[in-house]
Amino acid sequence: MNKFKLQTLSGMHDVLPDDQKYFQKITKAVESVANYYSFSKIETPILEMTDVFLKAVGQGTDIVEKEMYSFKTKGGDLVSLRPEGTAPVVRSYIENGMHNLPQPVKLWYMGPFFRYERPQAGRFRQFHQFGFEILGESGASIDGQVIQMSYDILKELSFKNTTIQVNSIGDSECRPYFKKVLTSYLKSKKSSLCSDCQRRLKENPLRVLDCKEEKCQVVKAGAPQIVDHLCEACHAHFKQVLEFLDELELPYSLNPYLVRGLDYYTKTVFEIVENSEEGGSLGALIGGGRYDNLAKMLGGRDVPACGSAAGIERIVSLMKQRDVKTAKVEEPEIFLAQLGLMAKKKSLKLFEEFRKAKIPMAESFSKDSLRAQLRSANKMGVKWVLIFGQKEALENFVTVRDMETGTQQEIKLDEVVEEMKKKLKK
Ligand code: AMP
Repeated sequence: MNKFKLQTLSGMHDVLPDDQKYFQKITKAVESVANYYSFSKIETPILEMTDVFLKAVGQGTDIVEKEMYSFKTKGGDLVSLRPEGTAPVVRSYIENGMHNLPQPVKLWYMGPFFRYERPQAGRFRQFHQFGFEILGESGASIDGQVIQMSYDILKELSFKNTTIQVNSIGDSECRPYFKKVLTSYLKSKKSSLCSDCQRRLKENPLRVLDCKEEKCQVVKAGAPQIVDHLCEACHAHFKQVLEFLDELELPYSLNPYLVRGLDYYTKTVFEIVENSEEGGSLGALIGGGRYDNLAKMLGGRDVPACGSAAGIERIVSLMKQRDVKTAKVEEPEIFLAQLGLMAKKKSLKLFEEFRKAKIPMAESFSKDSLRAQLRSANKMGVKWVLIFGQKEALENFVTVRDMETGTQQEIKLDEVVEEMKKKLKK
Protein backbone atom coordinates (compact mmCIF):
# COMPACT_ATOMS: atom_id res chain seq x y z
CA MET A 1 0.00 0.00 0.00
CA ASN A 2 1.23 3.52 -0.79
CA LYS A 3 2.37 5.47 2.22
CA PHE A 4 -0.10 8.28 2.89
CA LYS A 5 1.46 11.68 2.40
CA LEU A 6 -0.19 14.75 3.82
CA GLN A 7 0.16 17.07 0.83
CA THR A 8 -1.78 18.54 -2.08
CA LEU A 9 -2.29 16.33 -5.12
CA SER A 10 0.37 16.60 -7.79
CA GLY A 11 -0.21 19.68 -9.96
CA MET A 12 -2.54 21.26 -7.39
CA HIS A 13 -1.66 23.97 -4.91
CA ASP A 14 -3.02 26.05 -2.07
CA VAL A 15 -3.44 29.73 -2.79
CA LEU A 16 -1.82 30.85 0.44
CA PRO A 17 -2.48 34.20 2.17
CA ASP A 18 0.71 35.68 0.66
CA ASP A 19 -0.57 34.99 -2.86
CA GLN A 20 -4.07 36.32 -2.24
CA LYS A 21 -2.95 39.91 -2.74
CA TYR A 22 -1.97 39.09 -6.33
CA PHE A 23 -5.28 37.34 -6.95
CA GLN A 24 -7.05 40.38 -5.48
CA LYS A 25 -5.15 42.79 -7.69
CA ILE A 26 -6.00 40.72 -10.78
CA THR A 27 -9.67 40.45 -9.75
CA LYS A 28 -9.84 44.22 -9.30
CA ALA A 29 -8.29 44.90 -12.72
CA VAL A 30 -10.61 42.41 -14.44
CA GLU A 31 -13.71 43.74 -12.66
CA SER A 32 -12.96 47.33 -13.52
CA VAL A 33 -12.31 46.62 -17.22
CA ALA A 34 -15.35 44.29 -17.40
CA ASN A 35 -17.63 46.89 -15.79
CA TYR A 36 -16.36 49.64 -18.07
CA TYR A 37 -17.18 47.55 -21.14
CA SER A 38 -20.60 46.50 -19.70
CA PHE A 39 -19.81 42.82 -19.16
CA SER A 40 -21.92 40.91 -16.63
CA LYS A 41 -20.42 38.26 -14.40
CA ILE A 42 -21.46 34.63 -14.81
CA GLU A 43 -20.66 31.62 -12.64
CA THR A 44 -21.24 28.15 -14.01
CA PRO A 45 -20.90 24.92 -11.99
CA ILE A 46 -17.50 23.28 -11.70
CA LEU A 47 -19.06 19.99 -12.83
CA GLU A 48 -20.77 19.62 -16.20
CA MET A 49 -22.03 16.69 -18.23
CA THR A 50 -18.99 15.27 -19.99
CA ASP A 51 -20.86 15.63 -23.29
CA VAL A 52 -20.64 19.43 -23.05
CA PHE A 53 -16.88 19.17 -23.48
CA LEU A 54 -16.88 16.19 -25.84
CA LYS A 55 -19.11 18.10 -28.23
CA ALA A 56 -17.47 21.49 -27.81
CA VAL A 57 -13.78 20.99 -27.19
CA GLY A 58 -13.74 18.02 -29.54
CA GLN A 59 -12.57 14.44 -29.81
CA GLY A 60 -8.94 14.21 -30.80
CA THR A 61 -7.91 17.19 -28.66
CA ASP A 62 -5.48 16.68 -25.79
CA ILE A 63 -8.02 18.08 -23.34
CA VAL A 64 -10.72 15.56 -24.16
CA GLU A 65 -8.42 12.64 -24.87
CA LYS A 66 -6.07 12.83 -21.94
CA GLU A 67 -6.80 15.66 -19.58
CA MET A 68 -10.35 15.53 -18.28
CA TYR A 69 -11.24 14.51 -14.76
CA SER A 70 -14.34 12.48 -15.60
CA PHE A 71 -16.36 10.09 -13.49
CA LYS A 72 -19.75 8.46 -13.19
CA THR A 73 -22.06 9.84 -10.50
CA LYS A 74 -24.10 7.56 -8.24
CA GLY A 75 -27.04 8.30 -10.53
CA GLY A 76 -25.05 7.02 -13.52
CA ASP A 77 -24.33 10.37 -15.26
CA LEU A 78 -20.92 10.80 -16.84
CA VAL A 79 -19.66 14.19 -15.59
CA SER A 80 -16.38 16.13 -15.81
CA LEU A 81 -14.61 18.82 -13.84
CA ARG A 82 -14.60 21.76 -16.22
CA PRO A 83 -11.32 21.98 -18.18
CA GLU A 84 -12.24 25.36 -19.70
CA GLY A 85 -14.88 28.07 -19.43
CA THR A 86 -16.28 28.78 -22.88
CA ALA A 87 -18.32 25.60 -23.42
CA PRO A 88 -20.15 25.96 -20.04
CA VAL A 89 -20.92 29.63 -20.80
CA VAL A 90 -22.38 28.69 -24.18
CA ARG A 91 -24.34 25.85 -22.53
CA SER A 92 -25.75 28.43 -20.10
CA TYR A 93 -26.53 30.90 -22.92
CA ILE A 94 -28.59 28.24 -24.69
CA GLU A 95 -30.20 26.81 -21.55
CA ASN A 96 -31.25 30.23 -20.25
CA GLY A 97 -32.52 31.52 -23.59
CA MET A 98 -30.07 34.40 -23.65
CA HIS A 99 -30.69 34.79 -27.39
CA ASN A 100 -33.86 36.64 -26.25
CA LEU A 101 -31.74 39.35 -24.61
CA PRO A 102 -30.42 42.31 -26.59
CA GLN A 103 -27.36 41.01 -28.48
CA PRO A 104 -24.47 40.78 -28.10
CA VAL A 105 -24.49 39.27 -24.62
CA LYS A 106 -21.23 40.12 -22.85
CA LEU A 107 -20.13 37.89 -19.98
CA TRP A 108 -17.06 37.42 -17.84
CA TYR A 109 -16.05 34.74 -15.35
CA MET A 110 -13.28 33.79 -12.97
CA GLY A 111 -12.63 30.52 -11.15
CA PRO A 112 -10.83 27.17 -10.98
CA PHE A 113 -10.37 24.80 -13.92
CA PHE A 114 -8.99 21.27 -14.07
CA ARG A 115 -6.77 19.47 -16.56
CA TYR A 116 -4.91 16.26 -15.92
CA GLU A 117 -1.73 17.54 -17.60
CA ARG A 118 1.87 16.66 -16.85
CA PRO A 119 2.73 19.17 -14.10
CA GLN A 120 5.54 21.52 -15.15
CA ALA A 121 6.40 25.23 -14.99
CA GLY A 122 3.23 27.22 -15.69
CA ARG A 123 1.09 24.07 -15.98
CA PHE A 124 -1.12 22.91 -13.15
CA ARG A 125 -3.89 20.37 -12.78
CA GLN A 126 -6.05 22.85 -10.91
CA PHE A 127 -5.51 26.40 -12.09
CA HIS A 128 -7.54 29.60 -12.27
CA GLN A 129 -8.69 31.51 -15.29
CA PHE A 130 -10.63 34.65 -15.94
CA GLY A 131 -12.32 35.05 -19.27
CA PHE A 132 -14.51 37.24 -21.44
CA GLU A 133 -17.16 36.02 -23.86
CA ILE A 134 -19.18 38.13 -26.31
CA LEU A 135 -22.05 36.13 -27.82
CA GLY A 136 -24.44 36.93 -30.63
CA GLU A 137 -22.34 39.20 -32.83
CA SER A 138 -20.45 38.31 -36.00
CA GLY A 139 -18.70 41.64 -36.69
CA ALA A 140 -14.92 41.88 -36.42
CA SER A 141 -15.14 44.75 -33.94
CA ILE A 142 -15.85 42.32 -31.08
CA ASP A 143 -12.73 40.32 -31.93
CA GLY A 144 -10.87 43.62 -31.60
CA GLN A 145 -12.61 44.44 -28.33
CA VAL A 146 -11.85 41.07 -26.72
CA ILE A 147 -8.20 41.35 -27.73
CA GLN A 148 -7.96 44.91 -26.49
CA MET A 149 -9.55 44.16 -23.11
CA SER A 150 -7.25 41.17 -22.59
CA TYR A 151 -4.23 43.27 -23.49
CA ASP A 152 -5.37 46.20 -21.31
CA ILE A 153 -5.67 44.05 -18.21
CA LEU A 154 -2.11 42.80 -18.58
CA LYS A 155 -0.98 46.36 -19.05
CA GLU A 156 -2.81 47.42 -15.92
CA LEU A 157 -1.00 44.63 -14.08
CA SER A 158 2.35 46.16 -15.17
CA PHE A 159 3.17 43.87 -18.10
CA LYS A 160 5.00 46.09 -20.52
CA ASN A 161 6.40 43.65 -23.06
CA THR A 162 3.41 41.71 -24.25
CA THR A 163 2.84 40.78 -27.86
CA ILE A 164 -0.40 39.61 -29.38
CA GLN A 165 -0.02 36.76 -31.83
CA VAL A 166 -2.93 36.45 -34.23
CA ASN A 167 -4.03 34.10 -36.95
CA SER A 168 -7.18 33.03 -38.72
CA ILE A 169 -7.98 29.34 -38.89
CA GLY A 170 -10.89 29.76 -41.32
CA ASP A 171 -14.31 28.15 -40.97
CA SER A 172 -16.24 25.14 -42.22
CA GLU A 173 -16.13 26.67 -45.70
CA CYS A 174 -12.36 26.79 -46.13
CA ARG A 175 -10.78 24.72 -43.34
CA PRO A 176 -11.65 21.27 -44.75
CA TYR A 177 -9.75 22.08 -47.95
CA PHE A 178 -6.79 23.46 -46.02
CA LYS A 179 -6.76 20.32 -43.87
CA LYS A 180 -6.35 18.29 -47.05
CA VAL A 181 -3.49 20.46 -48.29
CA LEU A 182 -1.81 20.28 -44.88
CA THR A 183 -2.35 16.53 -44.52
CA SER A 184 -0.76 15.79 -47.85
CA TYR A 185 2.27 17.94 -46.89
CA LEU A 186 2.53 16.28 -43.46
CA LYS A 187 2.19 12.80 -44.95
CA SER A 188 5.22 13.49 -47.10
CA LYS A 189 7.14 14.28 -43.84
CA LYS A 190 5.52 11.62 -41.68
CA SER A 191 8.76 9.91 -40.66
CA SER A 192 10.11 13.24 -39.33
CA LEU A 193 7.15 13.76 -36.97
CA CYS A 194 6.98 12.69 -33.31
CA SER A 195 4.82 9.65 -32.55
CA ASP A 196 1.99 11.80 -31.13
CA CYS A 197 1.88 13.84 -34.32
CA GLN A 198 1.92 10.74 -36.52
CA ARG A 199 -1.33 9.86 -34.75
CA ARG A 200 -2.64 13.45 -34.90
CA LEU A 201 -2.06 13.40 -38.65
CA LYS A 202 -5.06 11.11 -38.98
CA GLU A 203 -7.37 12.65 -36.39
CA ASN A 204 -6.53 16.32 -36.20
CA PRO A 205 -3.74 17.44 -38.55
CA LEU A 206 -4.02 21.11 -37.51
CA ARG A 207 -2.80 20.13 -34.05
CA VAL A 208 0.55 19.11 -35.53
CA LEU A 209 1.18 22.85 -35.98
CA ASP A 210 0.75 23.24 -32.21
CA CYS A 211 3.32 20.57 -31.26
CA LYS A 212 6.26 21.79 -29.18
CA GLU A 213 8.61 18.88 -30.17
CA GLU A 214 11.70 20.14 -31.95
CA LYS A 215 11.45 17.71 -34.87
CA CYS A 216 7.84 18.77 -35.51
CA GLN A 217 8.84 22.44 -35.37
CA VAL A 218 11.20 21.78 -38.30
CA VAL A 219 8.39 20.20 -40.32
CA LYS A 220 6.07 23.05 -39.32
CA ALA A 221 8.47 25.68 -40.69
CA GLY A 222 7.85 24.46 -44.24
CA ALA A 223 4.12 23.76 -43.87
CA PRO A 224 1.46 25.49 -45.98
CA GLN A 225 -0.21 28.42 -44.21
CA ILE A 226 -3.95 28.62 -43.70
CA VAL A 227 -4.05 32.38 -44.35
CA ASP A 228 -3.24 31.57 -47.98
CA HIS A 229 -6.29 29.31 -48.18
CA LEU A 230 -9.02 31.35 -46.46
CA CYS A 231 -12.38 31.70 -48.18
CA GLU A 232 -13.51 35.20 -49.10
CA ALA A 233 -15.61 35.74 -45.97
CA CYS A 234 -12.85 34.60 -43.60
CA HIS A 235 -10.27 36.60 -45.47
CA ALA A 236 -12.38 39.78 -45.26
CA HIS A 237 -13.08 39.17 -41.57
CA PHE A 238 -9.40 38.67 -40.75
CA LYS A 239 -8.46 41.82 -42.66
CA GLN A 240 -10.99 43.80 -40.62
CA VAL A 241 -9.72 42.37 -37.33
CA LEU A 242 -6.19 43.47 -38.23
CA GLU A 243 -7.48 46.92 -39.18
CA PHE A 244 -9.10 47.20 -35.75
CA LEU A 245 -5.85 46.18 -34.08
CA ASP A 246 -3.97 48.77 -36.17
CA GLU A 247 -6.48 51.43 -35.21
CA LEU A 248 -6.13 50.49 -31.53
CA GLU A 249 -2.33 50.62 -31.94
CA LEU A 250 -1.95 47.21 -30.34
CA PRO A 251 1.40 45.43 -30.75
CA TYR A 252 0.47 42.32 -32.70
CA SER A 253 2.32 39.95 -34.96
CA LEU A 254 0.93 37.42 -37.40
CA ASN A 255 1.63 33.84 -36.44
CA PRO A 256 0.49 31.72 -39.40
CA TYR A 257 0.87 28.50 -37.41
CA LEU A 258 -1.14 29.49 -34.36
CA VAL A 259 -4.03 27.00 -34.12
CA ARG A 260 -4.80 26.56 -30.37
CA GLY A 261 -5.79 23.37 -28.64
CA LEU A 262 -9.56 23.39 -28.91
CA ASP A 263 -11.73 22.41 -31.86
CA TYR A 264 -14.42 25.01 -31.51
CA TYR A 265 -12.46 27.96 -32.84
CA THR A 266 -13.30 29.53 -36.19
CA LYS A 267 -11.65 32.48 -37.94
CA THR A 268 -9.70 34.61 -35.45
CA VAL A 269 -7.39 32.96 -32.90
CA PHE A 270 -4.93 34.82 -30.71
CA GLU A 271 -2.53 34.46 -27.83
CA ILE A 272 -0.85 37.08 -25.70
CA VAL A 273 2.69 36.28 -24.63
CA GLU A 274 5.14 38.18 -22.49
CA ASN A 275 8.44 38.72 -24.28
CA SER A 276 11.03 38.08 -21.65
CA GLU A 277 13.49 35.40 -20.75
CA GLU A 278 11.82 34.65 -17.43
CA GLY A 279 8.39 34.53 -19.07
CA GLY A 280 9.40 32.47 -22.07
CA SER A 281 9.01 29.12 -20.37
CA LEU A 282 5.54 29.84 -19.02
CA GLY A 283 3.79 29.96 -22.39
CA ALA A 284 0.89 32.21 -23.29
CA LEU A 285 -0.72 34.30 -20.57
CA ILE A 286 -4.00 34.72 -22.44
CA GLY A 287 -5.54 32.86 -25.36
CA GLY A 288 -8.78 33.16 -27.24
CA GLY A 289 -10.61 33.53 -30.47
CA ARG A 290 -13.88 33.35 -32.34
CA TYR A 291 -16.15 30.34 -32.00
CA ASP A 292 -19.05 30.85 -34.40
CA ASN A 293 -20.10 27.17 -34.52
CA LEU A 294 -19.89 26.26 -30.86
CA ALA A 295 -23.54 26.91 -29.95
CA LYS A 296 -24.61 24.75 -32.87
CA MET A 297 -22.17 22.01 -31.88
CA LEU A 298 -23.91 21.97 -28.49
CA GLY A 299 -27.33 21.65 -30.12
CA GLY A 300 -28.38 25.32 -30.11
CA ARG A 301 -28.91 27.77 -32.93
CA ASP A 302 -26.16 29.69 -34.73
CA VAL A 303 -24.56 32.11 -32.27
CA PRO A 304 -21.46 33.87 -33.58
CA ALA A 305 -19.17 34.68 -30.66
CA CYS A 306 -15.67 35.55 -29.54
CA GLY A 307 -13.82 35.24 -26.23
CA SER A 308 -10.58 34.91 -24.33
CA ALA A 309 -9.24 33.15 -21.23
CA ALA A 310 -6.27 34.08 -19.07
CA GLY A 311 -4.14 31.86 -16.86
CA ILE A 312 -4.06 33.52 -13.44
CA GLU A 313 -1.20 31.40 -11.96
CA ARG A 314 1.05 32.34 -14.89
CA ILE A 315 0.24 36.01 -14.42
CA VAL A 316 0.82 35.78 -10.64
CA SER A 317 4.13 34.00 -11.13
CA LEU A 318 5.43 36.81 -13.36
CA MET A 319 4.04 39.51 -11.06
CA LYS A 320 5.97 37.95 -8.19
CA GLN A 321 9.19 37.63 -10.14
CA ARG A 322 8.92 41.30 -11.00
CA ASP A 323 7.87 42.46 -7.58
CA VAL A 324 4.71 44.10 -8.90
CA LYS A 325 3.25 46.26 -6.14
CA THR A 326 -0.01 45.12 -4.61
CA ALA A 327 -2.40 47.28 -2.60
CA LYS A 328 -1.09 48.01 0.88
CA VAL A 329 -3.29 47.06 3.78
CA GLU A 330 -4.04 50.21 5.74
CA GLU A 331 -1.64 50.24 8.70
CA PRO A 332 -3.46 51.01 11.95
CA GLU A 333 -2.30 53.97 14.04
CA ILE A 334 -4.08 52.76 17.17
CA PHE A 335 -3.47 49.70 19.32
CA LEU A 336 -5.99 48.46 21.89
CA ALA A 337 -4.29 46.98 24.97
CA GLN A 338 -6.43 45.31 27.62
CA LEU A 339 -5.73 44.04 31.09
CA GLY A 340 -7.95 41.80 33.22
CA LEU A 341 -10.93 39.64 32.37
CA MET A 342 -13.61 42.33 32.59
CA ALA A 343 -11.60 44.72 30.41
CA LYS A 344 -10.94 41.95 27.89
CA LYS A 345 -14.67 41.28 27.59
CA LYS A 346 -15.51 44.96 27.13
CA SER A 347 -12.63 45.44 24.67
CA LEU A 348 -14.23 43.16 22.10
CA LYS A 349 -17.19 45.55 21.99
CA LEU A 350 -14.96 48.60 21.86
CA PHE A 351 -12.98 47.07 19.01
CA GLU A 352 -16.22 46.50 17.09
CA GLU A 353 -17.20 50.16 17.60
CA PHE A 354 -13.94 51.26 15.98
CA ARG A 355 -14.57 48.84 13.06
CA LYS A 356 -18.03 50.36 12.55
CA ALA A 357 -16.45 53.82 12.48
CA LYS A 358 -13.97 52.43 9.87
CA ILE A 359 -10.96 53.33 11.99
CA PRO A 360 -8.21 50.69 11.61
CA MET A 361 -7.05 49.38 14.97
CA ALA A 362 -4.66 46.62 16.03
CA GLU A 363 -5.07 44.37 19.07
CA SER A 364 -3.57 41.42 20.79
CA PHE A 365 -6.50 39.94 22.70
CA SER A 366 -4.63 36.67 23.14
CA LYS A 367 -1.96 38.35 25.28
CA ASP A 368 -2.64 39.03 28.95
CA SER A 369 0.38 41.03 30.06
CA LEU A 370 0.34 44.76 29.41
CA ARG A 371 4.08 44.79 28.83
CA ALA A 372 3.82 42.20 26.06
CA GLN A 373 1.02 44.18 24.44
CA LEU A 374 2.95 47.46 24.59
CA ARG A 375 5.90 45.65 23.03
CA SER A 376 3.65 44.53 20.12
CA ALA A 377 2.33 48.08 19.77
CA ASN A 378 5.87 49.41 19.65
CA LYS A 379 6.86 46.91 16.99
CA MET A 380 3.93 47.96 14.82
CA GLY A 381 4.97 51.58 15.20
CA VAL A 382 1.47 52.83 16.14
CA LYS A 383 1.13 56.37 17.45
CA TRP A 384 -1.65 55.70 20.02
CA VAL A 385 -2.27 52.92 22.51
CA LEU A 386 -5.64 52.69 24.23
CA ILE A 387 -5.05 51.15 27.63
CA PHE A 388 -8.12 49.44 28.97
CA GLY A 389 -7.47 47.88 32.39
CA GLN A 390 -9.42 46.89 35.47
CA LYS A 391 -9.94 50.45 36.74
CA GLU A 392 -10.86 51.77 33.28
CA ALA A 393 -13.37 48.97 32.71
CA LEU A 394 -15.02 49.59 36.10
CA GLU A 395 -15.21 53.36 35.68
CA ASN A 396 -15.91 53.37 31.92
CA PHE A 397 -12.97 55.33 30.60
CA VAL A 398 -9.89 54.61 28.48
CA THR A 399 -6.31 55.75 29.03
CA VAL A 400 -4.89 57.00 25.73
CA ARG A 401 -1.12 56.94 25.52
CA ASP A 402 0.75 58.96 22.92
CA MET A 403 3.64 56.66 22.06
CA GLU A 404 5.81 59.46 20.65
CA THR A 405 5.67 61.77 23.66
CA GLY A 406 4.80 59.24 26.36
CA THR A 407 1.95 61.47 27.63
CA GLN A 408 -1.34 59.94 28.75
CA GLN A 409 -4.90 61.19 28.82
CA GLU A 410 -8.16 59.74 30.18
CA ILE A 411 -11.19 59.73 27.85
CA LYS A 412 -14.74 58.57 28.62
CA LEU A 413 -15.57 55.23 27.05
CA ASP A 414 -18.55 56.54 25.08
CA GLU A 415 -16.49 59.43 23.68
CA VAL A 416 -13.33 57.58 22.75
CA VAL A 417 -14.26 56.79 19.11
CA GLU A 418 -15.06 60.45 18.37
CA GLU A 419 -11.99 61.72 20.26
CA MET A 420 -9.68 59.34 18.41
CA LYS A 421 -11.24 60.41 15.10
CA LYS A 422 -10.24 64.00 15.93
CA LYS A 423 -6.72 62.99 16.95
CA LEU A 424 -6.18 61.05 13.72
CA LYS A 425 -7.23 64.05 11.64
CA LYS A 426 -4.68 66.32 13.27
P1 AMP B 1 -6.71 27.65 -22.94
O1 AMP B 1 -7.98 27.49 -22.17
O2 AMP B 1 -5.97 26.36 -23.15
O3 AMP B 1 -6.89 28.46 -24.16
O4 AMP B 1 -5.74 28.48 -21.99
C1 AMP B 1 -5.88 29.85 -21.73
C2 AMP B 1 -4.82 30.25 -20.75
O5 AMP B 1 -4.99 29.54 -19.53
C3 AMP B 1 -3.41 29.87 -21.20
O6 AMP B 1 -2.87 30.87 -22.00
C4 AMP B 1 -2.69 29.77 -19.87
O7 AMP B 1 -2.30 31.03 -19.42
C5 AMP B 1 -3.75 29.21 -18.96
N1 AMP B 1 -3.64 27.74 -18.77
C6 AMP B 1 -4.07 26.76 -19.58
N2 AMP B 1 -3.81 25.56 -19.08
C7 AMP B 1 -3.17 25.77 -17.90
C8 AMP B 1 -2.63 24.93 -16.89
N3 AMP B 1 -2.69 23.60 -16.98
N4 AMP B 1 -2.03 25.50 -15.82
C9 AMP B 1 -1.97 26.84 -15.69
N5 AMP B 1 -2.46 27.69 -16.61
C10 AMP B 1 -3.06 27.17 -17.71
